[in-house]
Order: sequence, then structure tokens, then C-alpha cells
Amino acid sequence: MNATKIPFVDLRAQYAALQPELECAVRGVMERADFILGEEVERFEEEFARYCEVKYAVGVGSGIDALVLALRAYGIGPGDEVITAANTFIATVLAISAVGARPVLVDADPRTYNLDPHAVAAALTSRTRALLPVHLYGQPAEMDAILELAQRHNLVVIEDAAQAHGARYHGRRTGGLGHAAGFSFYPGKNLGAYGDGGAVTTNDAAIAEKIRYLRNYGQRVKYQHVVRGTNSRLDTLQAAILRVKLRRLEEWNAARRRHAEAYAQRLAGLPIQLPQTQPGVEHVFHLFVVQIERRDQVQQRLAERGIATGIHYPVPVHLQEAYRDLGYAKGSFPVTEAAAERLLSLPMYAELTSEQIAAVAEALAEAVSPA
Ligand SMILES: *Cc1c(COP(=O)(O)O)cnc(C)c1O
Repeated sequence: MNATKIPFVDLRAQYAALQPELECAVRGVMERADFILGEEVERFEEEFARYCEVKYAVGVGSGIDALVLALRAYGIGPGDEVITAANTFIATVLAISAVGARPVLVDADPRTYNLDPHAVAAALTSRTRALLPVHLYGQPAEMDAILELAQRHNLVVIEDAAQAHGARYHGRRTGGLGHAAGFSFYPGKNLGAYGDGGAVTTNDAAIAEKIRYLRNYGQRVKYQHVVRGTNSRLDTLQAAILRVKLRRLEEWNAARRRHAEAYAQRLAGLPIQLPQTQPGVEHVFHLFVVQIERRDQVQQRLAERGIATGIHYPVPVHLQEAYRDLGYAKGSFPVTEAAAERLLSLPMYAELTSEQIAAVAEALAEAVSPA
């Protein structure tokens, strides 16, 4: 009946708005035949560091690599424990496993879905070396409590900022809240490339330098290998694209916040739990996540009306087959498990129109009302 289709994200609308600039940027790289690292990557790193209000940004191959290289740069490995969120995308946890450390998961705060600092405190052992808070859905984690714990126990804090480019916590940008941070430029992220990409941000010059070596075969200069590195360089074409898009990020994040407000107004009064932004926090709404009863039915009814939604995430990390050996089971993290059955992510992207928001809200009101 309803012909208007509303996608979950609309990368084509974004491309249409930026096409001439993007094509010019990509053509420049091809004309200069400057394909590996080079000027575009350096410029992007400077611009992204400035945007994040940190001293250094190092472009790497993906978001997971950003976390892996940050952990490696701090010497975290076998025998070490790293505490992170049970409620996250699996890449956060895989990064810890990749360096040979043991992931220790903790449950979420039911208001923010971010990791609960009390649970972090309870999970500390003599082997804990690092905390890896995730700024989930675009809302910074409770960093004051996390940093306080880290200081008291002499731990490294690495932010997973893959969903929170530009978000602020008591005035300060994500990426500069801990010792280092990992960002992803996966296409659907708030700042997305046209392929894979990532960056590590830090204020520590020695760590930034180490990550520059690690991402490029451990080379200080060509064929002089000072550490056993890998190949995880931010692609130069992607850097050129990201430079164009970075100029729009503030505007896009502001649009996401306006859309979140419009959703909240239109959905008020319905039996739907809306996202709660904590005081002192500037959320960037990578995702607009609500909680509802009979989630799967509601999602189905929205789909029938052409409205695409997502679930972030349907199976928590500790219940994944890949992590059976961590020793967790159903019931280990009740907040995360309950959320997995009730969460629904509504369409969210800067180009969303007020008509589309109204249509989603109307369909949702119908879908949650008793038949
Ligand atoms: C996207 C994402 C990652 C991984 O980023 P990739 O670029 O896909 O490797 C890590 N953590 C979180 C929370 C993410 O959302």
C-alpha cells in the first residue's frame, strides 16, 4: 500500500550531494599515482587529529586494526586481561583476542547501554592491564568513573570510538578521553570511507610513532624494520574521500541530533523506551535505538510498510559460538541479554527528511498498538 521506501542508511543520498568534490579528490590521487600513504593520508591525519582535538591521528586499515595496533603499542598481550563491554560489536572483543590477551566482559548500564563502571570495578583482577570502553551508538561511555579506576589501578584506557566520531563528554571529544582510541571509517559509520579504513588517535607522541611503524611493516625508514609490524595502512584513495567528508561531519552530526529530537517528540507517549542522553554528553546518534515489546513482530510490520530497521546486536558476544570458551553462559549479563531481545534501531542518517521521520513514527505507533 505504502510506496515510500525508507532505508536504514542512505549512502547514495550522501554521494549525490558530494559527487563533484569526491570525484575530484579521487582523480587527484590517480593522476599523481600516489597510492600508498603519501600526502593525502598525512593531511587527513592532521585534519582528523585537529577535529578530535588530539595531537596525533594515525590512519590504519580498519577499525578493528586501530584497536589491535593500539593494544600492541601499549604492549598488551598474552597473560593480560582487558575489560570491555558485553554489549558491543564483536570487533571490540576480537581485537583483544588478536593480541593474545583475555577479554573480560562486563554488563551494560540499562539507561545508556554502555558498560557499567561498577561492573568494571568488580571485574578487576591482578592481571587486568587495560580497559576498553565502547562509546556505543554514539554516546560516550561514563569516562570519569572509568578513568578514575584506571588511574587507581595503573591501567591503560583505550576507547572504542568506532561509533562516536565527534561526540563530546563534558566538553571533550571522544578520541582524546583515554590513552588512545580506535576509530572505524566503515562506510556506514558517521564518518565513512568508500571501503575499509580506521585511525588511532592519541596525545602520546611515542605511541603515535609506534603505531606508524606497526601499520607499515615495522619500518622506520624503508627496509629498516624496528618492530615486527604488519600491513594496515589507511588507503590513500580512502584518505582523499575522508578529507572531503570530514568537512561535513559537524553538519551531519548536528542533523542526526535534530532527527533524534524529532523522533523523540513524535514517539513520546507510546510504549517505547527512547534513548537517554546522559547530562554533559553530546551524543552523535550513530544509531537511534529504542526498546519495545514483541520487537520481531514490530520489525516485521515496519518492513511490510517499506521501513528498514536494524538490531544492534541480536546475539551478544558472550553467547556467540566463537566465544564459547570464555566460560560465560545465558544469564551472565542480564541487561545485555534483555536488550538483545528488545532493541530496535530506526533509520538514521543526516539526509533523513522530516516526512520520513513522520512516516517511521506513524508506522511504529501502529505497529506497537494492540491489533
Ligand atoms: C564498526 C565497529 C568496529 C570495527 O570497525 P571495522 O572498521 O569494521 O573494523 C569496532 N567497534 C565497534 C563498536 C564498531 O561499531
